[in-house]
Amino acid sequence: MSFANLGLSQGLLEAVSKEGYTEPTPIQAQAIPAVLAGHDLLAAAQTGTGKTAAFTLPILQKLQADEAAVGAQSRRAVRVLVLVPTRELAAQVADSVRTYSRNLPSLRTAVIFGGVNINPQIDMLRRGVDIIVATPGRLLDHVSQRTVDLGRVETLVLDEADRMLDMGFIHDIKRVITLLPRKRQNLLFSATFSPDIRKLAEGLLQNPVSIDI
Ligand code: AMP
Repeated sequence: MSFANLGLSQGLLEAVSKEGYTEPTPIQAQAIPAVLAGHDLLAAAQTGTGKTAAFTLPILQKLQADEAAVGAQSRRAVRVLVLVPTRELAAQVADSVRTYSRNLPSLRTAVIFGGVNINPQIDMLRRGVDIIVATPGRLLDHVSQRTVDLGRVETLVLDEADRMLDMGFIHDIKRVITLLPRKRQNLLFSATFSPDIRKLAEGLLQNPVSIDI
């Protein structure tokens, strides 16, 4: 199995190869084609399995394809929302997004988390971003201040969903979901599957492809 077989574009293949990855990890081999095909995803995955690239690469590919089609520069909107439990993970995921999109320079990513001054985040959002990686609480602060518009999100990712529930984010997550368009792609990653996670997944995902590695 190679990354090229998974249907990724040249720009992404080059970025992956520059990272020194020679072949996809098992979760990448299963998730990338499913996400490219537009399916919802329910993935059981621990940290260290390559899960970040498993959702980031196909998402970037889809953004790039649409951008080529409509010349999206002038109509930038938040099209991808990645929710994560902690600021460390937010920074890490945003770094990965920037690394893998090195050859797609027109895509812009904002990282949003609490415990820091909100104003630089507001400036970033005001300039327009395609992708937001956020912790739920601070994202909702931006919603109340009307500094973010989630009305055109096409893809929602819940990363480390079990940790988000452990940290008490369920209500924030549900509130965020009410702000998204009804028609969208949903990807849920979790290391463990408690009854609460299953309930969240059932309410969120439509005919998901399940991956358990
Ligand atoms: P993650 O599970 O997303 O936290 O990724 C764990 C680590 O695996 C990160 O340091 C990635 O850079 C690395 N990684 C991701 N995909 C691959 C791959 N296909 N081959 C080798 N390393 C990878």
